[in-house]
Amino acid sequence: METVNQLLDSIKDVGRDAVRGGYSRAVYSTPELDLRQWFIEQAQQRGLDVETDRNGIIWAWWGKPQDGALVTGSHLDSVPGGGAFDGPLGVASALAAVDLLKSRTTAPKRSLAVTVFPEEEGSRFGVACLGSRLLTGAIDVDKALNLRDVDGNTFADVARGHGLDPRHVGPDQEALARIGDFVELHVEQGKGLGQSGPAIAVGSSILGHGRWKLSVSGQGNHAGTTLMADRADPMVAAAQIVVAVRDTAAKQPDARATVGRLTPVPGGTNVIASRVDLWLDARHPDDAVTAQLIESIYSAAREIAASEGCTVTLTEESYSDTVHFDPGLSRRINDLLPGAPVLATGAGHDAGVLAGHVPSAMVFVRNPSGISHSPEEYVADEDASAGAAALADVLEGLL
Ligand SMILES: [Zn+2]
Repeated sequence: METVNQLLDSIKDVGRDAVRGGYSRAVYSTPELDLRQWFIEQAQQRGLDVETDRNGIIWAWWGKPQDGALVTGSHLDSVPGGGAFDGPLGVASALAAVDLLKSRTTAPKRSLAVTVFPEEEGSRFGVACLGSRLLTGAIDVDKALNLRDVDGNTFADVARGHGLDPRHVGPDQEALARIGDFVELHVEQGKGLGQSGPAIAVGSSILGHGRWKLSVSGQGNHAGTTLMADRADPMVAAAQIVVAVRDTAAKQPDARATVGRLTPVPGGTNVIASRVDLWLDARHPDDAVTAQLIESIYSAAREIAASEGCTVTLTEESYSDTVHFDPGLSRRINDLLPGAPVLATGAGHDAGVLAGHVPSAMVFVRNPSGISHSPEEYVADEDASAGAAALADVLEGLL
């Protein structure tokens, strides 16, 4: 029987990123595959029956696979240069919770599965929660199969390379029917839990969020021979668009908008770019406001591009409505975790995608600084232990 801290300690060297700091564990990269293998071995050591479904989701069963099972889990992939806890904390806590439950009961009243969802972060193929979106049909299969990573590999090719059959990727009603209730434990990614007081919270909702690509096109040219007045430089337009994104979102209460990635084409120090691609992440509790926000940003971007002699296009890459977790399930979890506050989150999760189909809920564990998607993300050992114990209590109460 290992504690959640021991489990996390056993993967602390997997996927360390010497350049960015923290961890880079993109889906189906060597580190993520190592973590998947680690999970499978840990599950088998606990006597769980492991299967990987046609969308690459790993299921570890205590009891026979059956409809209406109690399911808990999270993800093992990370953002580039991410923290140690986003994803793995939920998976390791689920394994530790199984240990705790096994010390309390010999057979669960209904089957329990621990799941690992692939590509939760969308770091490799651009669409977050790709595994749960495929499972539930929240993404068009052809669109998913044709997603490309930065090296130009399609998801279809990468999936095939890792034992999946692209012809069978997509909505899976049988797998979905097996989820009676889904509970995801996750590191808190804001400052919702104070330094003192409870270390555990129950999730209430997930902010609506989406990703858009802005492509600014201009005239690629020579940095030395092209006079300043003769330029149509998409990088200059892109820089102003980044500021416009910040300013537009800042005027809208509760909105968040970020350009966290920008790629100049071709990308040379002595080259005026011909095109710059920017990826926009925007979020707001009211989906209509998000739509307005995107329209305002696009309108500002068109004006800026025109003033620099450039053009701009906007493409939606993914969108998730604001999600409210199942009130009945959340209430039961609240009763099982007396004193735990109820928190909304601005971060997306597989539990949010599943919530449209099966009763889903989340449990958050304190991250004192609130910093996440960064090497500085942190969970104290005693809080991680409290999280695993809380998850065990929740699962025991729901079984
Ligand atoms: Zn996560």
